[in-house]
Amino acid sequence: MSATAVAVGTMKVAQISKPGGGFQIVEREIPEPGAGQVRVKVNVCGVCHRDALVVEGSWPGISYPRAPGHEIAGVVDAVGAGVSEWKKVSESPSVGTGGNDFTCPECRRGDFMNCRNQKVTGISYDGGYQEHMLAPPEALAAIPDSIRDVDAGPLMCTGITTFNSLRHSGALPGDLVAVQGIGGVGHLGVQFANKFGYRTAAIGRGSENAALAEKLGANLYIDSESVNAAEELQKLGGARVILATAPNSKTMTELVGGLSSNGKLIVIGISFDPLGVAPVQLISGRKALQGWASGTAADGEDTLRFCELSGVRPMTETFPLADALQKAGSKKNRWSPTKFGISL
Ligand SMILES: [Zn+2]
Ligand SMILES: [Zn+2]
Repeated sequence: MSATAVAVGTMKVAQISKPGGGFQIVEREIPEPGAGQVRVKVNVCGVCHRDALVVEGSWPGISYPRAPGHEIAGVVDAVGAGVSEWKKVSESPSVGTGGNDFTCPECRRGDFMNCRNQKVTGISYDGGYQEHMLAPPEALAAIPDSIRDVDAGPLMCTGITTFNSLRHSGALPGDLVAVQGIGGVGHLGVQFANKFGYRTAAIGRGSENAALAEKLGANLYIDSESVNAAEELQKLGGARVILATAPNSKTMTELVGGLSSNGKLIVIGISFDPLGVAPVQLISGRKALQGWASGTAADGEDTLRFCELSGVRPMTETFPLADALQKAGSKKNRWSPTKFGISL
């Protein structure tokens, strides 16, 4: 489709008009992509914790009204002037991290993930809670034919974060790697850890998650309600890497005691509470703390291709829009063990 494609009508948008104001369904004109933009017809959009930051207004600098949603799969149905990478109407992309400026010091060094003016889909601009959305081309990743849209959405958020952090963690096949939390994020982390050849320990709360952890590929399950998870990891020699997915700073802090020498706690569960690690805990055994935030669209394509190769898939449920919006706007549901796809 050319840059001069004409808008073909209106579309539904699920937007937040002000922090704490809940969702409204509004009609807007289908937007035309400007120069350097593509338009995506949204087929599906996952519901994620980060959406709650828009619902509640807890992320700084959001301008409202805003349509959240960053776990998007769809087709490119129009491109703006100057876009050469995405042309065909049938191209299926997933929209991940929201775009770069290409001029800041980090971008000039090729470190696009740490762009100082990083855009975040569904926060910096309207995301996938609408029938069509505009995005910069660098935010798009091609979806392999064998990956369903409903799977591609979550894989471009929690998938890319767990895949990319673990593949850069330094852990080698056979190393003990623990994944804390087996919810929306951790259930993918456990699968990747297994497929990477790690001795995979899943840490969850309550015995009822043991069967799920085993099904996802965990070699062992540690119930942190009945045992001290750090001590259990030490009995096994200590974990080379602990991937902390549940956003509980106290739990993350306690897990530092489960690291092996040269072990690393990788923090991906978003919390605003401080960690309480004593310096001596890190100095002794040369341990490290590291944060990790998702990856570039190219990392997203790597994630999707690895999932195609290995069979790693998110657990998803699909809901009618109204039900999904209720879940997206509810604190109670934000840590559901499954991801939700929205079909607008
Ligand atoms: Zn997400
Ligand atoms: Zn930059």
